[in-house]
Amino acid sequence: IRRVHQTSQQLRKAEARTRSIVSNAADGIITFDEHLRIEDFNDAAEMMFGKTFTMVTQHDVLELINDDDRRLRDFVFRKATQDDSSHSGIRNSFDVYVSSKSLACEVQGRRSDKTRFPIWLSVGSVRWGEHTRFTCILRDLTEQKRTEAALERERCVIQELMLNLTESVFIYFKDEQGQFLRVNSALARKLGLKTPDEAIGRSDFNFFPEEYARHALRDELEILRTGQPALSLEEHATWPDGSQSWVRTAKMPLRNSQGRVVGTFGISHDMTDLVEGREELRRAKDAADQANQAKSEFLANMSHEIRTPMNGILGMTDLALDTDLSPEQREYLEMVQSSSEQLLHIINDILDFSKIEAGKLELDPQEFLLRDSLGETLHTLAQRADSKGLELAAHIAPEVPDGLKGDPGRLRQVIVNLVGNAIKFTERGEVVVEVAVANVSGEPVPNEIELRFTVRDTGIGIAHDKLERIFNEFEQADGSTTRRYGGTGLGLAISRKLVRLMHGQVWVESEPGRGSAFYFTARFGLATCQSDDRRQLPVSVENMRVLIVDDNQTNRRILEEMLTNWRMRPTAVSGATDAVRELTESVASGEPYSLVLLDGHMPDVDGFALAEQIRNRPELLSSTLMMLTSGGQLGDIARCRKLGIAAYLIKPVTQSDLFDKIVQILDQNHVATSASASVTHSVATHGTPMRVLLAEDNVVNQRLAVRLLERRGHIAIITSNGVEALEAFDQGSFDAVLMDIQMPRLGGFETTAEIRRREQGTSRHLPIIAMTAHAMKGDREACLAAGMDAYLPKPIQAEDLYKTLEAYAPQPNATAAASTVQLIDWIAALKSAANDKTLLKELITVFLESLPKWLSDLQSAIQQRDTAVAGRLAHTLKGSLRQFGATAAETAQQLETECAASHFAAAEKTFPILLAALNQLRPELEHPPG
Ligand code: ADP
Repeated sequence: IRRVHQTSQQLRKAEARTRSIVSNAADGIITFDEHLRIEDFNDAAEMMFGKTFTMVTQHDVLELINDDDRRLRDFVFRKATQDDSSHSGIRNSFDVYVSSKSLACEVQGRRSDKTRFPIWLSVGSVRWGEHTRFTCILRDLTEQKRTEAALERERCVIQELMLNLTESVFIYFKDEQGQFLRVNSALARKLGLKTPDEAIGRSDFNFFPEEYARHALRDELEILRTGQPALSLEEHATWPDGSQSWVRTAKMPLRNSQGRVVGTFGISHDMTDLVEGREELRRAKDAADQANQAKSEFLANMSHEIRTPMNGILGMTDLALDTDLSPEQREYLEMVQSSSEQLLHIINDILDFSKIEAGKLELDPQEFLLRDSLGETLHTLAQRADSKGLELAAHIAPEVPDGLKGDPGRLRQVIVNLVGNAIKFTERGEVVVEVAVANVSGEPVPNEIELRFTVRDTGIGIAHDKLERIFNEFEQADGSTTRRYGGTGLGLAISRKLVRLMHGQVWVESEPGRGSAFYFTARFGLATCQSDDRRQLPVSVENMRVLIVDDNQTNRRILEEMLTNWRMRPTAVSGATDAVRELTESVASGEPYSLVLLDGHMPDVDGFALAEQIRNRPELLSSTLMMLTSGGQLGDIARCRKLGIAAYLIKPVTQSDLFDKIVQILDQNHVATSASASVTHSVATHGTPMRVLLAEDNVVNQRLAVRLLERRGHIAIITSNGVEALEAFDQGSFDAVLMDIQMPRLGGFETTAEIRRREQGTSRHLPIIAMTAHAMKGDREACLAAGMDAYLPKPIQAEDLYKTLEAYAPQPNATAAASTVQLIDWIAALKSAANDKTLLKELITVFLESLPKWLSDLQSAIQQRDTAVAGRLAHTLKGSLRQFGATAAETAQQLETECAASHFAAAEKTFPILLAALNQLRPELEHPPG
């Protein structure tokens, strides 16, 4: 009994152990009897079939396993019916046979949801007396099958890739020694092999020139060492068949499943066409660059060649117009002048365009005052607008800063282009220029501002389909307009490029028949000093009532805004009737208008007629009248004087003009102060006559330069090449040199270098100003680098010449010491005073006392274009100066001639010269030699 007890305990333990193994097994385990009835069913089987043990116990195992071919049933039948002796298995002490034969096959399993899945099945049998028990182990093959399918797909892809990829793509795999493990068919063919397998075990050294193979091996060893791929290697390969090609290769490390680098693989593609194309392109680009270079050189030379004679034509015409001419001659010459100006304009356009094309145009940034600059620009266009009866108005929003950093010349060019077009294409109405601060999207840049300019006209407009095209070079809205309006079609193309240089954009909106609006934006730096303080009027103008009479609404708005900014109280009316009513009412209310701004040109009653009406009403006399004219008509000014109009302004009225005029009218002493102010001011700037060495080979230009210099009282010594200039340099002392660059025998650069050499060791430095028609960027730098001090582009503009040259004028005392110019001929002076020294002193005292009044009267007479008064005063001055034998008498004489001939523009330039000369004279007169 004890043995039985022990044995059954052992059995229970064994059963428990078996159960635990079975239930925790990863494989499904099912036991069933010889009638295929399920007896046991482990957890893994539950998972596999989605059924619990209770659901399947005593059920037929064939509900779970598909056995269409009866393999399982036959096996079970065989095992159940075989007698023990036929069992080749082991028989143990409990009469249990474990059969060594078992069934193993793939079958289909059925899940509770009727889906099928592959199973690997192995069934073993155990015989216990009469009974046979079957244990089957099931393994779900779903995942394994899936992996197998994926692997197969992968294999196919690689196979496809290696066999059938296009002829120009090569793939290879190599081992750590650089021997091929595998190559694709295209590479095999290229290597001259019949099958890809022939490559295995061979290396680049078997196929390529040694150097190439060594190079490739070095690359591969590097990849093996670092594990880093080498992408985009460009290699020139010579193939076994002798052909050559360029390939681009990416080489990468080949890693085994543990991630260790065990070789390399690479993909190359043939890019011979690409490289050759690129080479072709580079050659073409070089050729184009060369051609472009040649083109811009050609243009520079052309511009030089054309500008030099243009210089002569324009300058000489200018001088000829200053001489006595018959009306017919004057007319012809004026036509020559305007045609030459047009021609110069076209040449400049073409040159500009070519420079921009060649990338040679750069901005020349400097500080400038926007309002003054725009005012000047528009004044040059006002006459054109006026002659067509158009209003030209400008409005700069108050918040737009005045002091800017940018290229005022190029800005002016764009504005002149757009406004010029607007005037050209408008027959009636107005052209309005507006400037406002642009709304910039994104972060504002410190110390920078973007402005938006608008040029609006009421002209013929532009068809919608042409709006984009007109910005292209040589493009005009249509052929017939070209004939009617002329032009090159370059203006807008240039403007667009200039605006881009200023980091802006240009665009247009237009309504055919109603007008156009051109817009552009541009970026500017902010100048360090803003000029706004200047625009503070004296406090006395606060709340001053001003009446604006103008038929043009835009003008009224602009004037109102300016005046309001100065805290005046403007009222605007559109015509004479309203104006008279306003004035009358204002007197009645006890708050009369202090100032009336009258538009000269108005329909029905114009400004002059209105002024006359006002002047005929004694009760309105307290208002000061100011006329806004379009300039040009000399008669206007005379009429203004006759009507007692205090001042006139040329339209478009700019803020600074209006400001200055208001100050001038309000401050009665203004003229006197400003005259004496300019006396002191002028000395430093352009008072001193300079000795100028001129080196210039072109005779016309020589004469022009000499005349321009003489006009300002400077003395010119002419030389026509560098050699002569150097001789003159050695012999005389000069205040400055005007140096042409291209001269025979010795050019400007060489001459400059020689002068600088000769100056070495001395404290002297003679200012040298280059004059060149090479208007290309870089000229200035070249000149400065050559040792020159300044640069003047040809054609020489008088104002530029004076400004540049006179910056080098010696200080007055320095001249007094250095130069021998005698300001007063004391002997002659004494003679004219009948050799009476006391009398001479008295004469001098009287002269010096009257001088300020004479000068201020003379200045205002010139300003007011009063031929008679100015002529008389200049004459008096000249007489007195002659009396003292003063050289300044020459200048006074010139002034007198100019005034008598009503050449006021010239007189305005001569006047400051006279002031300067007098200022220099004063100390000498005050201290006559014993
Ligand atoms: P150009 O004026 O020398 O012909 P642009 O490039 O300045 O050359 O202008 C190109 C064309 O654009 C002009 O010929 C004209 O047809 C059109 N255009 C320009 N501005 C205006 C405007 N304000 N009104 C109508 N058409 C204009």
